[in-house]
Order: sequence, then C-alpha cells, then structure tokens
Amino acid sequence: TAPIPLPVRFGTSQIGKIAMSPATRRGASLDDRRFVALIANELGGPLRMATLVAEAQRLASTDTLTGLLNRRAFVERIEKARKDSPNQLFPMSMLLLDVDHFKKVNDTLGHDAGDAVLQGVARVLQAIARKSDFVARWGGEEFVLALSQTAEAGARVAAERVRRAIAEAKYMLPSGNEHRATASVGLASAESSEWAIDELLGRADKAMYAAKHRGRNRVETG
Ligand code: GH3
Ligand code: MG
Ligand code: MG
Repeated sequence: TAPIPLPVRFGTSQIGKIAMSPATRRGASLDDRRFVALIANELGGPLRMATLVAEAQRLASTDTLTGLLNRRAFVERIEKARKDSPNQLFPMSMLLLDVDHFKKVNDTLGHDAGDAVLQGVARVLQAIARKSDFVARWGGEEFVLALSQTAEAGARVAAERVRRAIAEAKYMLPSGNEHRATASVGLASAESSEWAIDELLGRADKAMYAAKHRGRNRVETG
C-alpha cells in the first residue's frame, strides 16, 4: 500500500516528515490517516526539543570563533577517555601553542585579520590531529593539543610537525591578502602512569615560555 506522508511541524515551520504504510492491501483507511496525523502532530515538540538539547550541548562545548573544543569540554573529553580506557593508564602528551607576536596582527591589520589567523591555525591543528587527539582553543591566541597514547619521543615528532605546519600555512585574510604566522610550542609528557591534566599543562606552559625566550617558532620540552 502506498505510504501516507505527512509533514512534522513545530509552530509554523516544517522540521521533518513522517510516512507510514498500512499493512493491508486495501489501502489506507480514514483511521489510518487519523493515526498518522496524530503522530505527526505529537512528534513536532519532542523532535524540536531533542535538536535544541543537542545544539545547546554543541554550543556549550565549542569555541565560537574556531569551532574547536573549549577548555571545559577539552578537560571533560580527556577524563572520559581515561575512564573508558581498559586499564586507565596510558601515556599522554600535551602541546601548548601560543601564536607569536599576535598582538601585532591585530594592531597593524585589524581584529578581523587576527580572527582569520586564529581560524586558520585552528584548521591546521584539526588537519594534523589524529582521531584519538583532542584539540582546543585554550584562550586568546593559545591552543592546546592532547596526544593520548603518545609518549615523549613520539610527541616531539608531532610537536615539530605542528610547529612546521603552522609556519608553512598561508592564512587568507578578509582583505584578500595572505598572512604567515608562527607559534611557540611547549611540550609535556607522561608515560603510562597516573598523570593530571593540570600538571601536564603547567609544565607545557613553562616550556612554551622557554620557547618564546629562546626565539619563538620553536618547540621546547618541559
Ligand atoms: P608573543 O609572541 O610573546 O606571544 O606576543 P603576542 O603579541 O602574541 O602576545 P600577547 O599576549 O601580548 O598578545 C596576545 C593578543 O591576542 C592580545 C589580544 O588582543 C589578542 N587576542 C586574544 N583573543 C583574540 C581574539 O579572539 N581575536 C583577535 N583578533 N585577537 C585576540
Ligand atoms: Mg598568549
Ligand atoms: Mg602570543
């Protein structure tokens, strides 16, 4: 039997469609049609609610400018990964990145140009990150990359790859001009033992400042 299709509405906007086929050969009865209409009618509210909850969760966990995780979501995801891991012990490395001389971009090219560079850096980080990594905007022009299951030797290679990718990327500005940027990277690692996110980030932050002092556009390990 041909299905009975009906729009699912919330208020005046259509948010979906529902179609049901009666399981008989004689076609849809008036009762069948009433039944589908009733379901289509009742579905609008709950469906809209589910979408709003999902959207609110997404907004609460992402940074609006870059679409990366925000600080809180970053920490939550890592703690969840640790809980879900069979023995809850795995190596972890943190890269803290700070864009070099970023204030100059804002001051000479404007805040919109600065925003475009931050979005570009975020894209580079996302392109490099593996599925098991976590990338977040830590604040301002600082980003953090957590490499789970990665001890120091591997993380050094990854950090250098990230540094180079940021330096080699061309950042398209709203003016149409291209901009080049570099970042200083601090690395901190823990082997398969208990580690704390704060402690790793503290060490990575110190290492990042050392990278600044030693000339920027470089990786230091803390
Ligand atoms: P350094 O190499 O030592 O890191 O120098 P810097 O200029 O990058 O460091 P500083 O901390 O002095 O400047 C950071 C600037 O980042 C200042 C602030 O106005 C800018 N900034 C922070 N958040 C945003 C943002 O969302 N958009 C833009 N356009 N600028 C931002
Ligand atoms: Mg900074
Ligand atoms: Mg900076």
